Amino acid sequence: MNDGKYEFLRVRREFLHPFVTAVGSFTEVERILIKTEMDGKIGFGEVAPWPNFDTESISDCLELLNTFAGNLYKLNAHLKELEGEFPCLRAALSSCRHWEEIANFNKKTSWAGLVSKPTEESIGRKIAEGFKTLKLKISPLTSFSSIKSLISAAPKNIIFRLDANGSLNLQEAEQWVNFALSSDQVEFIEQPLPVNHPGYNQLDTKKIALDESFISPHEFNWAGPVVVKPSLVGDWDVFLAWRKTHSNKVIYSSVFETAFGRQAGLWLAHLDPAVGTVGFDTLNQFKDDGLDRHQSGPVVGGLSNFDWLALWRKFK
Ligand SMILES: [Mg+2]
Repeated sequence: MNDGKYEFLRVRREFLHPFVTAVGSFTEVERILIKTEMDGKIGFGEVAPWPNFDTESISDCLELLNTFAGNLYKLNAHLKELEGEFPCLRAALSSCRHWEEIANFNKKTSWAGLVSKPTEESIGRKIAEGFKTLKLKISPLTSFSSIKSLISAAPKNIIFRLDANGSLNLQEAEQWVNFALSSDQVEFIEQPLPVNHPGYNQLDTKKIALDESFISPHEFNWAGPVVVKPSLVGDWDVFLAWRKTHSNKVIYSSVFETAFGRQAGLWLAHLDPAVGTVGFDTLNQFKDDGLDRHQSGPVVGGLSNFDWLALWRKFK
């Protein structure tokens, strides 16, 4: 019996321009690409943690991968004992397990356009590219009235998602949430307050999408929308079981994965019969490192007939 083996490689990706959110400015990210082999079948997965999300770090993960020296059976047995830790690695190994289906995935999904610095010009550019939903980053420094007027100046069929990355206080959050509730063009406010902030109990959940607060489905209780990052959500079979019993609106979202993680994340999103517009407009953000392969735009398909092994070999 073949218990399987794995190899891995660490990649560093440099942003073209520092990527700024309410929690900081980032010049690069690191990822671990994993290749598994079991019963003659090859799988790929990507470990892609993201700042301010409470998961394992790249170095935690490397330590574990080095410990089991390529023995997939031992790695899986160890993860089974840890119960829920290492969500990024669990997601990556889920991708490896489902790789045959993932590699064939070519369906199209609608993408929300990411606007990190909202101005009339940057919003206008995304609308001209054909995006119907736009995601704007907001923070305590964002002028409430300027966002309000940017939204009211946009065509009425354009929908906005506003992401605060947990940076607001309760009073600020209330202002944004009330605005969202009063505007048909605002789909939701994403993570207005920090993780576990008691103020969430006082806010109307209808238009609040939790993101940083939702790492894995374990003991998660929220009636409103939920942002699911396939790369951070832990074991995908556990997530899919959770999804079947929960009717929350789910927004699938990227963490700047390479093509491996992107293909897998889009596949997972598409398994959801209620998949709406996904948040995968994170291409063209890195110096050209050969690790992005999908097209970008308002409607994008998976990469089928792609030689994933050749891409792996380029970097290994
Ligand atoms: Mg977010």
